[in-house]
Amino acid sequence: MGEPFDAVDVIVTKRDGGRLSDAQIDWVVDAYVRSVVAEEQMAALAMAVVLVGMDAGETARWTAAMVASGRRLDFTGLSRPTVDKHSTGGVGDKITLPLGPVVASFGVAVPQLSGRGLGHTGGTLDKLESIPGWSPWLTPAQMEAQLQAVGAVVAAAGDDLAPADRRLYALRDITGTVASVPLIASSIMSKKIAEGTASLVLDVKVGTGAFLPDLASATELAHTMVRLGEDCQVRTVALLTDMSTPLGATVGNALEVREAVEVLAGGGPSDVVELVCVLAREMLTLAGRPDADPSAALADGTAMDVWRAMVRAQGGDPDAPLPQATHTDVLVATTSGTLISVDALAVGTAAWRLGAGRTRRDDQVQPGAGIELLACLGDQVRPGQPLARLHTDTPDRFTRAHQALADAFTIAEATPAPRRLVLGRIGGGSDVGMGDTS
Ligand code: URA
Repeated sequence: MGEPFDAVDVIVTKRDGGRLSDAQIDWVVDAYVRSVVAEEQMAALAMAVVLVGMDAGETARWTAAMVASGRRLDFTGLSRPTVDKHSTGGVGDKITLPLGPVVASFGVAVPQLSGRGLGHTGGTLDKLESIPGWSPWLTPAQMEAQLQAVGAVVAAAGDDLAPADRRLYALRDITGTVASVPLIASSIMSKKIAEGTASLVLDVKVGTGAFLPDLASATELAHTMVRLGEDCQVRTVALLTDMSTPLGATVGNALEVREAVEVLAGGGPSDVVELVCVLAREMLTLAGRPDADPSAALADGTAMDVWRAMVRAQGGDPDAPLPQATHTDVLVATTSGTLISVDALAVGTAAWRLGAGRTRRDDQVQPGAGIELLACLGDQVRPGQPLARLHTDTPDRFTRAHQALADAFTIAEATPAPRRLVLGRIGGGSDVGMGDTS
């Protein structure tokens, strides 16, 4: 039987500013997975979408077609309510590590399917894989059993979960077609809908370290994703949060696990603790526990107990020493004054160049590589004072990392504006708190 459409007609329709019909979208996504639509044709269509856009109806249909390209997990048999969190990706964003255990400690199931990092943002799986023995490879049945017993799980998304997105995202990555609200929204939401969570909290990053740095685009992305979730009966709330400065004091896989464990032990940097608690409150509210106090779970050790059980359930040893890089170097201040800003993109790029991230999907990351920030916003600094410690197993990487950090730290005779971590909230019946990020 012949194909009902021709790929070139679909591309030309979008290129010329037209609207794709439901049937065209269903066909092009399915035909791409069947390799009837060639990679270069999908790349041309993705570029047309980047330039022309898709309306809400097209985006919803595109998302549904990507969900339908694979299996949809179902956790409705659990006795616990399910809620997940997704971050659009940031620098030093280790929030998932303490957050899952905090929420699970209140009897809620957190089914996290995560990915690896590409470019300057780190991936949750890369971070957790720095724990000796820990594995992200779980079958859906193992995930379900762990959710029932422990409450928290972080697993690699299987090949059969939204396979159209898996292929399309890899293609977009190498064809300059990532930065598009409908394509990012459908990519993220197709995976989260297929994952089978009943509720979802989105952490949409705004600032230099984010995919879409400006508040207007991030707000549009948040609205689009919330609508896609609600259309598919996933209760969805989005927070817009600041990613102009790295989160916490560490960037890099094992370094971030160490910091996450400090938070679980009741300490850790205040911005990480604040964001964990804000996101946990949203998740617990969606899961029917608006009364629960996340900070109590950090203070009394119950979140730590869930963390240890989660790591053990996936083969890891929560007491094993974390890998350390073999070489370190220090960046020092050259002027005196107040530390006004630390640029997230520059720090993320430097950590990546030290070996914490990958350039190609099959690259190995160095678990111990990364950056420790040694001064905080608002600190008075003087020439020669250490600002950051750089970690790597390959010291020839220091030069390029220092180059990335050249303008990362702004020191001036001024008072920094207080950092607002949460810039807005969308969904759940109200949109609040939109402001500028400057
Ligand atoms: N993360 C995704 O999963 N997809 C995108 O398109 C961008 C970020």
